Formats: sequence, structure tokens, C-alpha cells
Amino acid sequence: MARKKTVLVVVAHADDMEFLAGGTVARFAFEKGYDVFEYILTDNSKGSYRLLPEVLIEISAREAVEAGEVLGLKQVRLEGYPDCELNEVNPNVLRGQIMAVIREIKPDIVMSWDPFAPGEDHPDHRMVAMATLEAAAFSSNPLFYPDHADLPHMVTEAYWFAKQPWNAECIVDISSTIDKKIEALFKHDCQMALTIDALARESETIGANADIARDMPPEQYRPIIEMGIRQFCAAAGAKTGMAYAEQFRYEKLGMLDKVLGTNFVEPDF
Ligand SMILES: [Zn+2]
Repeated sequence: MARKKTVLVVVAHADDMEFLAGGTVARFAFEKGYDVFEYILTDNSKGSYRLLPEVLIEISAREAVEAGEVLGLKQVRLEGYPDCELNEVNPNVLRGQIMAVIREIKPDIVMSWDPFAPGEDHPDHRMVAMATLEAAAFSSNPLFYPDHADLPHMVTEAYWFAKQPWNAECIVDISSTIDKKIEALFKHDCQMALTIDALARESETIGANADIARDMPPEQYRPIIEMGIRQFCAAAGAKTGMAYAEQFRYEKLGMLDKVLGTNFVEPDF
């Protein structure tokens, strides 16, 4: 019987996981019975055209917890760094904080943005990705951050989000969980409003007739968001005949299988 694993998703913003990996996370939680934890590093305070930062911080924190419940997460942790300012945090401190969470939760799998994704424009995504890779790669070494409360722990697998299909050789069938993914995304109502408001501005700028306007209410933008998500995930699945899919760059972080040519670490997909 397959071993029960623990999963830690480390992201910059409240809705990153749901957009890129919500269907896969729901499969881990509901179909495989894995314990899934989410660690969100920023306070999301720049994620709106409509709300003031102090209101947004409170609402998006609540929405993240509600979305986590939809996807079957064990826990959602919020670190609360100012949005878009992770590059102000000392990389050594950021890596240490993520490593402390790894040593406490003891995940087999980490998920995050891809530290080597070309064309990633968001500084927070780049920061969280690299810090997560470094934290996971060295968390088993007792000489790294010896002041941590919990013992060193080895992470063996990583799923890096493939926003662009760069190196996305791991295609996960989410046909059974696409509805959960959409339900979780709808919990992030202020982020769905942000998405539609950004699309409206783009549409105006290029003079497109996209039937998207500024400040649309939820009953108008939800069907558009749902169509967009289904279209995006259907395109990812089309290559392999899946109705809906999410894409990752999968990586074994340990060396045992590489050195011995074995397959002790078994990928789930
Ligand atoms: Zn983000």
C-alpha cells in the first residue's frame, strides 16, 4: 500500500495555490488522504483595485482559510509580510522561516512557484520559490539554523507550479476536482474581483470587445472566471487526453534514487 504523505504548499499570495494547484491539492487531500498545509507569506495588501489595504488584508486572510477548507487542507498559515515586498526580507531569514515550518510539519512534498521559471514577473513569486527550494534542499542538515525548535527533516519531492508550460512534464488529471478548484477560487472573492478588474483594464487599453467592464458585480464576473479557469485547465489536459489538468515541474529532491538508479521515492502522478 502506498505511504501516506504530508504536503506543504508555500506561496506568496492568498490565491496562488488555488489558481495553479487547487485541483491537485484537492486530489492529495480527498483521494489520497494526505495531510496538506499551506503557508502564505504576504498579507495580499496590494491585491485590489477596489479595497483599501487594511480592509483587504483582513478579508483575504479569511478567504484563504475558507478556500483551504474547500480543498481539504489541514491548516492555512499566514506570515503577513507586506505584499510585493518580499525582496526587502533578508533571503537568509526567509529561507530560515520556511525551513522552520518544514521541520515542524515534516512534509514529504513541497509545492511552490518554480524557482527557475523563465518570464516570472512577480518578485514575490521569485522570492518564495527560491527560498522554498533552498529551505527544502537543506532542511535535513543539522548545521543549518541549529537554533530551530524542531529536528532536521528531509523533503523528498517538489511540485513546482508551471504557470507557463515551461518544462511542465508532470500533467496531473484534475477532472475529478475541477469543481472544487473553482469553488475554492470563488471563496477568494476579492481576488476574483482583482482578476476581472485587471482584464477590464487590459480590454480597454487594447480596445477589445471582451464584454468585461470595470467594477462588475460577482454574479456577472463569476461565470467569466469559471469559463476562463475551465479553458486554461482544459488546454493543459488536451495534450494528454484529460478533460482538465494542472501542470508542474516535478523534482525528486533527495539523491538516493539518482545515485542508485532505484525508485524508492514514488511519484503520485
Ligand atoms: Zn501571487
